[in-house]
Amino acid sequence: MAVQTVAGNATTASPDLGPAAALSCRECGERFELGPLFACASCFGPLEVAYDLPTGSPEELRKRIEAGPDNIWRYAPLLPVPADVAEKPNINPGFTKLVKADNLARELGVTGGLYVKDDSGNPTHSFKDRVVAIAVEAARAFGFTTLSCSSTGNLAGAVGAAAARAGLRSCVFIPHDLEQGKVVMAAVYGGELVGIEGNYDDVNRFCSELIGDPLGEGWGFVNVNLRPYYGEGSKTLAYEICEQLGWRLPDQIVIPIASGSQLTKIDKGLQELIKLGLVEDKPYKIFGAQAEGCSPVSAAFKAGHDVVRPQKPNTIAKSLAIGNPADGPYVLDIARRTGGAVEDVTDEQVVDAIKLLARTEGIFGETAGGVTLGVTKKLIEAGVIDRTLTTVVVNTGDGLKTLDAVSATSQATATIKPSLDAFRAAGLGTA
Ligand SMILES: *Cc1c(COP(=O)(O)O)cnc(C)c1O
Repeated sequence: MAVQTVAGNATTASPDLGPAAALSCRECGERFELGPLFACASCFGPLEVAYDLPTGSPEELRKRIEAGPDNIWRYAPLLPVPADVAEKPNINPGFTKLVKADNLARELGVTGGLYVKDDSGNPTHSFKDRVVAIAVEAARAFGFTTLSCSSTGNLAGAVGAAAARAGLRSCVFIPHDLEQGKVVMAAVYGGELVGIEGNYDDVNRFCSELIGDPLGEGWGFVNVNLRPYYGEGSKTLAYEICEQLGWRLPDQIVIPIASGSQLTKIDKGLQELIKLGLVEDKPYKIFGAQAEGCSPVSAAFKAGHDVVRPQKPNTIAKSLAIGNPADGPYVLDIARRTGGAVEDVTDEQVVDAIKLLARTEGIFGETAGGVTLGVTKKLIEAGVIDRTLTTVVVNTGDGLKTLDAVSATSQATATIKPSLDAFRAAGLGTA
């Protein structure tokens, strides 16, 4: 039997978003027609995409996925995108490397297999390309002509690039004091880039106001009015990790937290794979990582609270600097339900971890990657992460965008005259 991918409901003129059937409220379960909605009309809870998932055999679906393109569109049957998505102009992210990090494992004493999912390999060098690629399809389906977002940096670049490729206008908003690498990468694609005098939470508030204003009409804000679709892009990290492990669930995954969307959707993706019979149903643990200077979720986890008290961010991990994370409570649920944890590290530990990953595996991650590996190391040493189990650490961005974090301690070993004598005299070449 053929795998059914399209919820072809011809009686409603619903947009063609493949297997996406409706939006449903994460709090009360009420369902709404697919559209640019993000909050439940009854209880104001966040909406998420509900699916008519494929009904064929797992073997058939697995084969079909494996025959697909080397990007996230191989998982189109599980995403809110039209069946012909791979033929449309999009940035086509995903299928990034899952690196078996044996050197790092040795250094940390991990014996059960340690992997780095390296999302710096995406088109604009962060995991944000995954979520934006899906939001572009939703924007097209709903007829938006301008793509927008509130961003901690990486999202602005991903939106700029995707809009350029899709032939949409873009206008993106960032805190004014971001790293040079983030600013340039967001501006180079030719859309409007606006620095807001304030932190991310101020930028986000501003965007909510803009959506309600005539000025914002026809605008798709990927992480506001398109947020339910945007979020689904992060499921592809879960799909890829399992497929690259040979259709196996890892035992432990460590994921950075900004708004918490990525972490909650990786969990959703793993649950779907289990439901579809694509992986064996067994327990896994999800760990969340924050920087101490912006650790509202970690603080709530450690205090045993269900609510997340907002903080004013102050950390070099600017891509994670969201003081009032929208998905914080869901992250707490998932960490507790799976037997994981949420932990934080200092900026100094972030820098150490960036250099540890570079020195052991030749991977230069951004500060968010330093947060995630730093927390991994801390939890291994505390015995919370089990050294004997398969562990995946997600590196979500590229160190070239956050050079300042390591530039003070990463410089030329020496500068010499071009002669062997000078080289010898400086005592070099012995490292
Ligand atoms: C945005 C971002 C995250 C986390 O995103 P959320 O889904 O908001 O938690 C992690 N790493 C990097 C590099 C990012 O840019």
